[in-house]
Amino acid sequence: MKLLIAVDMEGISGVVTWNQVTPDSTEWQRFRRIMTQEVNAAIRGACDAGVDEIIVTDGHWRGDNIIIEDLDKRAKLNCGGTSPFSMIQGVDQGVDIAFFIGYHAMMGTPNAILDHTWSSTRITRVKLNGLAVGETGLNAAVCGHFNVPVILLTGDQSVTQEAQALIPGIQTVLIKKATGRFSAECVSPIENWITIEKAAKQAVIAFKNGNSSKPINNATPIDMEIELQASEMADKVALIPGLKRIDGLKIQFTCDTMPEAYLTFRSIVQMAG
Ligand SMILES: [Zn+2]
Repeated sequence: MKLLIAVDMEGISGVVTWNQVTPDSTEWQRFRRIMTQEVNAAIRGACDAGVDEIIVTDGHWRGDNIIIEDLDKRAKLNCGGTSPFSMIQGVDQGVDIAFFIGYHAMMGTPNAILDHTWSSTRITRVKLNGLAVGETGLNAAVCGHFNVPVILLTGDQSVTQEAQALIPGIQTVLIKKATGRFSAECVSPIENWITIEKAAKQAVIAFKNGNSSKPINNATPIDMEIELQASEMADKVALIPGLKRIDGLKIQFTCDTMPEAYLTFRSIVQMAG
């Protein structure tokens, strides 16, 4: 059984500020160690439940956060960027199940640590087939295209609620209770690692028994609407052929498949900068 562990950083134990997840900062050096241990906890639980192949994808910023020499040796690591499937690189390579570790809520969510959708300075809102989604929804939709269910997600209470609403039956681990964008009640990372290990094991066992969450199945063609944060960003994005400008801030497009829509969305984020 092959598992993809897609990892972000904002939802990791103790993280409450941008500084803690900004590459090369002193604080980032601390939290990337915690991030690596959080992934190791998931690997231990998954292997205990019989997973025999694991690919970890470092999906935060430059993709160079996880410390490879400290990563459980049973996993391979996709790191760096820009890779074809970005935060879920490897999803097209015969993966059976996925975990999302260290995730955060979509832009505009109250009581959500570092809420944003791909870019905190460029993207205000993303709608996928009419439904507002964040990174959880976008990445889970691409997993769904490859028939991969997301069976476990970790993060604050806002992203766990977002995931449960979108993916019925998904197992979640509450890492911290957010009381604002930059404030949360946090427990010791060591406590969280114990909980993650148990939840990872349970999630895999539930999958084996046919009781886990199912892959997301989006109707095709895929319709996406992106609201940018400023009209000059929409000016630039509107230069991409095939995209339709709806108003000052909104861009709409249609794609035959979800991976194609994902690539188009990521091009929009790049182009808007
Ligand atoms: Zn991130």
